Amino acid sequence: MKPVVAIVGRPNVGKSALFNKLIGRRKAITKNEPGVTRDVNYGECMDRGRSFTLIDTGGFEPDLETEIPRQVREQARLAMEEADLIVMVMDVRTGLTSVDTDIVRELQRNTEKSIIYVANKTDTHDMVPQASEFYSLGIGDIMPISAEHGLGIVELIDKILDLLPEEEEEEVELNQVKVAIVGRPNAGKSSLLNRMIGKKRTIVSDVPGTTRDPVDTKFRRGETEYLFVDTAGIRRKSKISAKLEIYSSMAAIKSIARSNVILLVIDGKDGVRMQDEKIAGLIEDSGRACIVVINKWDIVDRDEDTIKVFTEELREKMPFIAFAPVLFVSALTGKRVDSVFDTIDRVVKAMNTDISTSRVNKLLEEVVSRHHPPVYRGHEVRFYYGTQTGKGPTRFAIFTNYPDGVIDSYRRYMVNRFRESLDMEEIPLRLSFRPRR
Ligand code: GDP
Ligand code: GDP
Repeated sequence: MKPVVAIVGRPNVGKSALFNKLIGRRKAITKNEPGVTRDVNYGECMDRGRSFTLIDTGGFEPDLETEIPRQVREQARLAMEEADLIVMVMDVRTGLTSVDTDIVRELQRNTEKSIIYVANKTDTHDMVPQASEFYSLGIGDIMPISAEHGLGIVELIDKILDLLPEEEEEEVELNQVKVAIVGRPNAGKSSLLNRMIGKKRTIVSDVPGTTRDPVDTKFRRGETEYLFVDTAGIRRKSKISAKLEIYSSMAAIKSIARSNVILLVIDGKDGVRMQDEKIAGLIEDSGRACIVVINKWDIVDRDEDTIKVFTEELREKMPFIAFAPVLFVSALTGKRVDSVFDTIDRVVKAMNTDISTSRVNKLLEEVVSRHHPPVYRGHEVRFYYGTQTGKGPTRFAIFTNYPDGVIDSYRRYMVNRFRESLDMEEIPLRLSFRPRR
């Protein structure tokens, strides 16, 4: 799983400017498709072949001045709990404030994690000496940076990569299905988990993790072993106010990274909310398989159209996980909870399928004969051959004379044809187009 870096600091020091600067080195993960709202508060950073998840804890600041100290403290605590490394931002232009001092003390007292202190808004080299004021905190090195002018950013990234633990390679072990249960607070994640592994069933054991690894629950059903990841996190009620959606977002990022299949639990009574959409965005980025579980169906007023209407709303708001099967259940009564296991098994089977190169090539021929790719700069786009390159998500590389000639609509058509023909309609599938050597 990717290491996590959190940016902390009081309001207005330039946390979000720094966040954008760091994320911008690749691409912002905002999509312009209508109805698709992506989170602006966390994103993937990639540099020199390494990547980490960056979180701007400042997106959750209160409007009220009086609430700042409390909120800032919560923010620092959150970062200490969840991140592998903390970047604490201060502002040379305003200089050291008492809130800065509070955050520094909070971090110093409570965490062994690496902390990088930066003095932002050092827009020119002759401002560097101004950062010396912060040395009175007795915290060692302080890096002068300017998020807006790019000063010191390369050095900051160097330092982050130096201090950050290596990404742990996650083997996709498909004989043990790793299931993550994610969703908004109170959607019923913990009830669903309890109902799925209820006492009547066989072996349930908690697998203790290291401090970095959350506790998982192992469970056997028939021939299959399921590992529910981060079940301690699901069961433990957050001490932090539910308003702080970042808490559940971070928990979701971590669980998603460790799973093969994700159960996205949505409160059927509330419908699809913004935070559900954000989590769906994370799921799309992860390439994991997903099952949408609409819970509390027992208390939803319904008629013969309700399921249809709900599904349409869901597809419209989360077009990027259109592949995910949707189930309507009640964790409370147990109704249709068994179908969750059946659906997991079906999805895992699809994820496990190996497709031979000859089958891919036959499929390519058929795809092209049904519908030719558009001409690219006066040239015919040809596909020479294709081959499966991975699983979880299922990936194919397709060799072509003009990778740039495969326009989005054609790519979508191809992905759909692949999904249909290969019985992979319920899982994510990615095609990459490579120039023929
Ligand atoms: P946050 O509240 O900590 O997320 O701070 P923002 O990123 O929203 O920045 C607060 C203000 O500081 C904005 O007006 C930014 O334009 C400004 N700012 C951020 N970084 C820099 C910088 O490197 N130099 C200067 N001069 N201004 C900056
Ligand atoms: P979590 O925060 O997502 O883990 O949610 P919980 O499992 O703690 O459930 C939150 C609340 O919703 C509790 O009061 C549950 O009893 C209730 N709840 C959970 N599932 C259902 C359901 O299927 N139907 C109804 N009516 N209530 C439910």
